[in-house]
Amino acid sequence: MNATTSVKPTSTELRVGGLAHLSTCDWPGELAATVFCQGCGWDCAYCHNPHLRPTGAEPQLSWSEVFAFLKSRRGLLDGVVFSGGEPTLQPALFRAVQAVRGLGFRIGLHTAGMTPDRFASVLPCIDWVGFDVKAPFHAYSRITGVDHSGDKALASLRLLLASGIAYEVRTTLHPALLSAEDMVELRDQLLSLGVTHYAVQHFRLAGTRPNRLPPDSHQPQPILPPGYGDRFHHFYLRRSSLTAVTPES
Ligand code: SF4
Repeated sequence: MNATTSVKPTSTELRVGGLAHLSTCDWPGELAATVFCQGCGWDCAYCHNPHLRPTGAEPQLSWSEVFAFLKSRRGLLDGVVFSGGEPTLQPALFRAVQAVRGLGFRIGLHTAGMTPDRFASVLPCIDWVGFDVKAPFHAYSRITGVDHSGDKALASLRLLLASGIAYEVRTTLHPALLSAEDMVELRDQLLSLGVTHYAVQHFRLAGTRPNRLPPDSHQPQPILPPGYGDRFHHFYLRRSSLTAVTPES
């Protein structure tokens, strides 16, 4: 396994790899700006933001530039989403979140839960979490390339569920990496943990690295059994586009 979760940026300022001035899909139901944090310790084969993975890459924007932009959007946006990469890898996340909260914004966070301790420390400042679950927890390394990564994700998911903070758990369904049987096992794990809001999103080719994708990435998606999502309070199947949201009955 090449990737590692031991990468520890030392910068005291949040390292930013990109900024979306306006998004209607990064936080469902909210008008938000999205701050893309630089760096990720995992190496998912289907990553759509591989340029955000290198932890030591030059930031595309300084935090002060980002903060000045957000300040100018007060009253025009509902919230700000910290996405990545993996935002919780950065020690500077906590102060950045507090500063943006101080501007009056609600705060969303996208995370895969790879650093449970830092996730726990920032959770009280978060209004909504988009939490990526990659696979049945024992099978995480198949997706992330990191041994025992499922243990970290499971610990973080438990923290999230205990917090009472609004969330959506989401899984990318890649036809060569997850079977219908895997998805049933994962669903049952999530239900037994108490997950109520769950979305399955079909793998999209856009932005991925062709040399990192499994060879049979173009095969049809596995068919989920009828009623797959019935026991969640809210279940969505996003077939091919982040904006094409289809409630499943
Ligand atoms: S956890 Fe997210 S950012 Fe990191 S490699 Fe996987 S998909 Fe990419």
